[in-house]
Amino acid sequence: MKRDQINIGVYICHCGMNISPKVDVEAVAEFAEGLAHVRIARDYKFMCSSPGQEFIIDDIRQYGLNRIVVASCSPRMHEATFRNACETAGINRHYFQMANIREQAAWVTLDTKEATAKAMDLVAAAVARVTYHRPLESREVKVNKSILVIGGGIAGMQAAISSGNAGYQVYLIEREPSIGGHMAKFDKTFPTLDCAACIMTPKMVEVGQHESIRLFTYSEVVSVEGFVGNYSVRILKKPRFIDESKCNGCGICMEKCPIKKIPSEFNENLSFRTAIYSPFPQAVPNTPVIDPDHCRILAENKPCGACEKFCEAGAIDFNQQPEHMDITVGSIIIATGFKAFDPEPLVQYGYGIYPEVYTSLEFERLNNATGPTGGSILMKGGDFPKRVAIIHCVGSRDAQYREYCSRVCCMYSMKFAHLVREKTGAEVWEFYIDVRSPGKLYEEFYNRVQKEGVHMIRGRVAEVTDILDDPENSEDKGRLTVVAENTLTRRMLRIPVDMVILSVGLEPAEGAGDVGRMIGVSSDGNGWFTELHAKLAPVSTVIKGVFLAGCCQGPKDIPDTVAQAMGASGEAVALLSKGTVMTRAEISFIDPDLCAGCQTCVEVCVYNAIDFDEGRGIATVNELLCQGCGSCAVACPSSAASIKHFTNRQVMEELEAILI
Ligand SMILES: Cc1cc2nc3c(=O)[nH]c(=O)nc-3n(C[C@H](O)[C@H](O)[C@H](O)COP(=O)(O)OP(=O)(O)OC[C@H]3O[C@@H](n4cnc5c(N)ncnc54)[C@H](O)[C@@H]3O)c2cc1C
Repeated sequence: MKRDQINIGVYICHCGMNISPKVDVEAVAEFAEGLAHVRIARDYKFMCSSPGQEFIIDDIRQYGLNRIVVASCSPRMHEATFRNACETAGINRHYFQMANIREQAAWVTLDTKEATAKAMDLVAAAVARVTYHRPLESREVKVNKSILVIGGGIAGMQAAISSGNAGYQVYLIEREPSIGGHMAKFDKTFPTLDCAACIMTPKMVEVGQHESIRLFTYSEVVSVEGFVGNYSVRILKKPRFIDESKCNGCGICMEKCPIKKIPSEFNENLSFRTAIYSPFPQAVPNTPVIDPDHCRILAENKPCGACEKFCEAGAIDFNQQPEHMDITVGSIIIATGFKAFDPEPLVQYGYGIYPEVYTSLEFERLNNATGPTGGSILMKGGDFPKRVAIIHCVGSRDAQYREYCSRVCCMYSMKFAHLVREKTGAEVWEFYIDVRSPGKLYEEFYNRVQKEGVHMIRGRVAEVTDILDDPENSEDKGRLTVVAENTLTRRMLRIPVDMVILSVGLEPAEGAGDVGRMIGVSSDGNGWFTELHAKLAPVSTVIKGVFLAGCCQGPKDIPDTVAQAMGASGEAVALLSKGTVMTRAEISFIDPDLCAGCQTCVEVCVYNAIDFDEGRGIATVNELLCQGCGSCAVACPSSAASIKHFTNRQVMEELEAILI
């Protein structure tokens, strides 16, 4: 590269009052003018504004600039803006470098002189680096106009419906026998106390009947390969042992099944189901499954066949095998939801020790018309409770378990309090740390519940015990005592109750980590999938074409879940609607002259983007799969692998400019 042909323009942004009060932007511009190859340096209030971009475009044209440096905010915010400006003016978009003097200097340096000196260093580094930039090109590839949705809770269903309504082919994969997720277990939903089934079953039916949605229940995704616009997906469909095309959902098989004492997972093990079963009456599809671990024929090879004998449609098929199906999709929406925190380790609350201590999901089933008690809030002995305690934040906001707030527990606890009062007239105590009710109509619901006579006690419960203060008191016999401090009155309380409900927190769904690894989507320390940007790209992920919907990204209520699902669908549809996508330009390059064929890069590449060319004895990069993560460049023992736009030379020049 002939260095004398390089003409660099440097632009220092004030970023309103973000940079200029701390960094002497004029001094930085003056400093930049003295750097090698810099033809012009300016400062301006908002470089990202239209006039700011016009400066760059005009200067490129007027002064023949062929490299641009903008010192402003983070590249995440505006790298694309300035790259577009470069392209508009006719130079390659990669002849651009950004120096982040806002987050890295102005916002974090107390002293003005030091902040200015640091900004100068960062500008010098960017100028040194951009000198060695090379023009890079992306490739345009055709996309497959179909969408995979993983998880059939309310998030996955909404994402599928929105995408299907936009005319895209959707494949919705649910691992349980029916779609519905957690919401299918609820009777009422806060804050409006809508009947959950009334608002949800129309969506379930719509999914089942939608001409653009292909529903795979009792199925899981087992592999995902490929890249944005062209993902190859393998689905495993577990055998139901029922021919879905023949079954008419009459239910006679379940009536006749002699194996009747299997704990019902859908009812949180509070009732039993048969070996051939449908999880709940409104299940979609309305086809039962035979549980191979409990069916006499399948588990024990013993004679039975009651279901087969009575099935007039001839739908029972004990020979069904697992099936694999391969599909190609352009985009993926992950909607794997959550699981409830298991409170057993918190022995002080007595879950699993005292029968009248319930989790919130157990209570949801107890309260549900399709639940074990037909919707009556009854204790195990069959009586209505007279005194009920609800303990908030079980497993949440607890450094030992989950530090985060699970966001929905305060509200569903108050929903429970209302339902207990309404259905049983029992006295209710809620033990909370503080009440979080920031949604629309939530605070109003909180006030309503208080007016209904619920005792709100601020304080963590120390213990639930069967030791009574006054064992002779016949009223309290058989009761549990909730021991807590009321931190507002500073009084210790010992409240005898009949029933305790633990408002357990939310955790990522079982197996969510495997889904993430399979697709390449990262998770945070708690296992929730990480969005691309918490504020500006909350449904996108680092993997282009892969989006998040609902609780798989973090705890949220139904309105937020539905909104996010619509957002994820909108992003997926917008991406595919163009018909083509641009590939990444900053990807790996393996120098065939240096490659020793050791295949270390093949092993470290998590995107399966490197193949070994047996004939030539060298590794080669699949440009469509490579995400430019740099693992191969780090691992390569012969320095054959490098990342375009992050070459050793470019990075070293940048470092030296700061250090020397
Ligand atoms: C006790 C309780 C009460 C609540 N009450 C209310 C309320 O009244 N109002 C309100 O607004 N919110 C309420 N919520 C919150 C509400 O449950 C969530 O907002 C909602 O269920 C989130 O939906 P989702 O689809 O993201 O997740 P989920 O409902 O968890 O659905 C996820 C689906 O994905 C499936 N899945 C998981 N992994 C895979 C995989 N690998 N492959 C295929 N499928 C997979 C699951 O089987 C499931 O069907 C409550 C929560 C709890 C715990």
